[in-house]
Amino acid sequence: MNIILFGPPGAGKGTQAEIICQKLNIPTVSTGAVLREAMKNGTPTGLKAKQYVEAGELVPDAVVTAIIKDRLSEPDCANGYILDGFPRTIPQAEALDAMGVKIDAVLSIELSDEEIVNRLSNRRLCGVCGASYHLLYNPTKDNVHCDKCGGELITRKDDDPKVVMNRLDTYHSQTEPLKAFYNAKGLVKTVSGSDTIPEITRHILAELGT
Ligand code: ADP
Ligand code: ADP
Ligand code: ZN
Repeated sequence: MNIILFGPPGAGKGTQAEIICQKLNIPTVSTGAVLREAMKNGTPTGLKAKQYVEAGELVPDAVVTAIIKDRLSEPDCANGYILDGFPRTIPQAEALDAMGVKIDAVLSIELSDEEIVNRLSNRRLCGVCGASYHLLYNPTKDNVHCDKCGGELITRKDDDPKVVMNRLDTYHSQTEPLKAFYNAKGLVKTVSGSDTIPEITRHILAELGT
């Protein structure tokens, strides 16, 4: 099963991807996570991406499409995968089509701009494994270390409220139009992002018929 998790920054895509990939036993492919890892390691891709990510803008289509093409050709993707944060533009979706990828469902997690700003200001990330937490809504045992791997929690630079406003603009102008693109193919299933984390997981699994 090839699934796209779609939605604005902070909607809960990463959180749900972590849970659902275990239930369905397929990997999550997150362009944001790959880009953050590349930036941390100072690779050529990381150096190209940094200025865009830190400004809350989209990394050029050619860069992210190349990442996806490589990743999806790895053996663990053979039985399906969850795409988190890709595609984010119509050209990226067209590139996915051109790779011969067949999408089974697009889960759109919906959340208002006000709720997004509130969530992202208290988001924390494991600096080692990348797991996503929230100081109030999804805390770790001590809110300093990751419950999964013990790594230290970090704040994403692009979760600064000024950058978040820019990411929301980018989402509405460049990414939201994808919903109509996939709606025309009959693939979009909508879930409310303001429910609790386990409720959203249940709704997603119900929509997938699993
Ligand atoms: P969020 O979880 O808040 O939605 P991501 O971790 O998915 O954010 O992405 C972080 C940043 O990485 C984006 O703001 C953008 O700069 C870059 N990025 C991630 N995915 C893509 C993509 N598909 N196309 C272009 N840029 C991307
Ligand atoms: P995205 O990948 O869409 O940017 P995340 O999964 O990183 O979003 O979630 C954004 C923030 O909101 C994180 O701090 C996360 O712990 C928190 N969060 C995720 N889902 C929920 C939820 N249903 N209720 C409250 N907080 C949530
Ligand atoms: Zn961790």
